[in-house]
Amino acid sequence: MEPLDTLGRPLHDLRISVTDRCNFRCTYCMPKEVFGRDYAFLPKEQVLSFEEIERAARAFVALGVEKLRITGGEPLVRRELPTLIAELAALRTPDGRPLDLTLTTNGAALAALAGPLADAGLRRVTVSLDSLDDAVFGAMNGVDFPVARVLDGVDAALEAGLTPVKINMVVRRGINESSVVPMARWARETGVVLRFIEYMDVGHSNGWRLDEVVPAQELIDLVSGVWPAEPADPSYRGEVAGRWTYLDGLGEFGIISSVTRPFCRDCTRARLSADGKLYTCLFAVAGRDVRAVLRDGSSDEELVTFLAEVWRARDDRYSELRSQSTSDLPKVEMFAMGG
Ligand code: SAM
Ligand code: SF4
Ligand code: SF4
Repeated sequence: MEPLDTLGRPLHDLRISVTDRCNFRCTYCMPKEVFGRDYAFLPKEQVLSFEEIERAARAFVALGVEKLRITGGEPLVRRELPTLIAELAALRTPDGRPLDLTLTTNGAALAALAGPLADAGLRRVTVSLDSLDDAVFGAMNGVDFPVARVLDGVDAALEAGLTPVKINMVVRRGINESSVVPMARWARETGVVLRFIEYMDVGHSNGWRLDEVVPAQELIDLVSGVWPAEPADPSYRGEVAGRWTYLDGLGEFGIISSVTRPFCRDCTRARLSADGKLYTCLFAVAGRDVRAVLRDGSSDEELVTFLAEVWRARDDRYSELRSQSTSDLPKVEMFAMGG
């Protein structure tokens, strides 16, 4: 059973947030003025257990999900994460294929965990890194976390075979634009795939302003001005990053331009938050309570039916509507729903 939503989109990707906590305070995500010492994160009993996550993931896979991304908050702060990865790695699509199982991390704990995660069956990782300059990176991550330790994590991921390693770089006007070309150079030399992300208006704590977004075209011009590049075909329907290949053969870079070039039409993604809410759009106002269904004695079949109904009713296309009045609606923070 592969349900289609009201715009004919299938459900192929699922992002699962395993915690709402994080050891960073990125200014664009969890600014420390808002997420201070006394911020109330979810109490343990409200967070899905590994058993509940695995059961939910199995139901999603029955509905057509082939790609699972573990995220947060910072997923590596969840204890025993390799145990969950091993359970998810054992899942198979209805026709018997393993899933594309990946994880997005700030990299802080990756040097220690890359090996155990790879051994547990993780396929690859995406590491977020906004600059190679300690002053810029420290200010953006909000806790003065040093670049070198993230780079150690990237090295460990490459060694453990969690490849291709992708790097997410959020670009903010006047904050880290000067890091764009050095990051591209480093990525070309290291063999990682750099993806620039337009700064988005997720949540409402980051004080987002349109003039802080560096549009995709400007980033493409900046990088291809140094190393000529041409657009590559998307690898699959719903791929979020526009891909550009360097003409000298030294790899590629990607652009995630949800602000200036929305890709809602092909969006096949759902998000499950750490407390078991299902969001069918990154900019959703409310989630559906999957945890309640997991905990009320419903059968696996009833769970699958519930999820299918939510997906069939989906009509989200926030990015395409952004210019209209929807941007004033209340939104859910990205770290809470799973970025
Ligand atoms: N903590 C992990 C990390 O930072 O990779 C995983 C969760 S984080 C919410 C997932 C991704 O969302 C990161 O690459 C982060 O840079 C990105 N992100 C967070 N807030 C953003 C914003 N306002 N605009 C664009 N990307 C954002
Ligand atoms: Fe934490 Fe990731 Fe958000 Fe930064 S982007 S605050 S690392 S969850
Ligand atoms: Fe998908 Fe919503 Fe983003 Fe559009 S705005 S691409 S529907 S998550």
